[in-house]
Amino acid sequence: MLSDLERAPRFHRTHRFGTFLLGEAPPFTSLYEESGDVVHFDGEGRWQRATLSDATYLRGFDGAVLHRFGGPSKQDVRVPSPTSIHDRIVAFVERARPSAPVPLSSWSTEALLAESSRFLTAYRPVGIVPPDRYRSVVIQATQGCAYNGCLFCSLYKGQRHRAVPHDELRAHVQRARAFLGSNLTGRRGLFLGEANALALPQPHLLTALDVLHEELPTLATDVASFLDAFDVHKSTAELAALRARGLSRVFLGAESGDDATLALLQKPATVAGLRGAVDALKAANVSVGVIFLAGLGPTHVDASAALVRSLPLDERDVVYVSPLIVEPGGRLAHALERRGIATLDAAAEATTLHDALRGRAKVARYDVRRWIYT
Ligand code: SF4
Repeated sequence: MLSDLERAPRFHRTHRFGTFLLGEAPPFTSLYEESGDVVHFDGEGRWQRATLSDATYLRGFDGAVLHRFGGPSKQDVRVPSPTSIHDRIVAFVERARPSAPVPLSSWSTEALLAESSRFLTAYRPVGIVPPDRYRSVVIQATQGCAYNGCLFCSLYKGQRHRAVPHDELRAHVQRARAFLGSNLTGRRGLFLGEANALALPQPHLLTALDVLHEELPTLATDVASFLDAFDVHKSTAELAALRARGLSRVFLGAESGDDATLALLQKPATVAGLRGAVDALKAANVSVGVIFLAGLGPTHVDASAALVRSLPLDERDVVYVSPLIVEPGGRLAHALERRGIATLDAAAEATTLHDALRGRAKVARYDVRRWIYT
């Protein structure tokens, strides 16, 4: 296996020593061992991804570690205490160090743990990002959610909603740029958070995009963001002006194609509103990601499929199916119980919905538990 990797085209240079192989793909490096263990490092020498004894881990910039299981059958989980994973990775590097022909990462467990507080000098905790934007640089142009009332969403509960003033936004972008360092290499554009950043008034948003162009000119040509359909108060001309400033994709939390289900979820949106939002965005040449929840019953599945069929989607767009996460005993659990859909299996319905939504746009799974900012 190591001899195959030695010739892998993705590496600029490789070094074989003892039972190890080091692959360099600047600014990134990967350290492999014959045992099958491997650790990938970012350009700052921090580990990013590791496979140890057949278990795969991802380290988030915020210091969290995700144990990745890689499929819908078993959920990825956050490692309760990342210290032991850092310890194993540091020990792995220390075993390789004496015979390594080039300097290896010198990050200690303590330094890796301290990254959590350093991250918080640049960012607020980063909520969620859709799967095709996991490689974007997150920029927090707003904080919290102006509505905060959807029964299935606890992302911003108790947080004050505010638009970040432009001077504060510039300082945030500069701190994020410094924190990410060489990790800006190979990124897929920017993701503008948090909830509904695109609902900001048009003049504020245009200036915010200008700030991004000044601070991160390459990445600012490809900007994506969330927008709730009930918050689309922009004309096609205004959306086209945002498109001209780099807005390339908007993710709409449709949740359901059934108005009664939207009411049950206490989402103040309608199917007609969602359709109008997609029409306006597509007319402005902005691609869309439309997100549906799974686990809400057959009426919801049929209505969502009918809605998707009626939307002007094409191969640039994506439809996401996101299994509903229900906290036992919570308000959503009680609301579902009252509708007689308390026992639905969200994972099973995700498969049904996935098939029902097939059309011109790609359909993909979106499990919010898989997200970690890396
Ligand atoms: S789903 Fe969107 S609108 Fe609803 S509470 Fe969450 S962030 Fe706010």
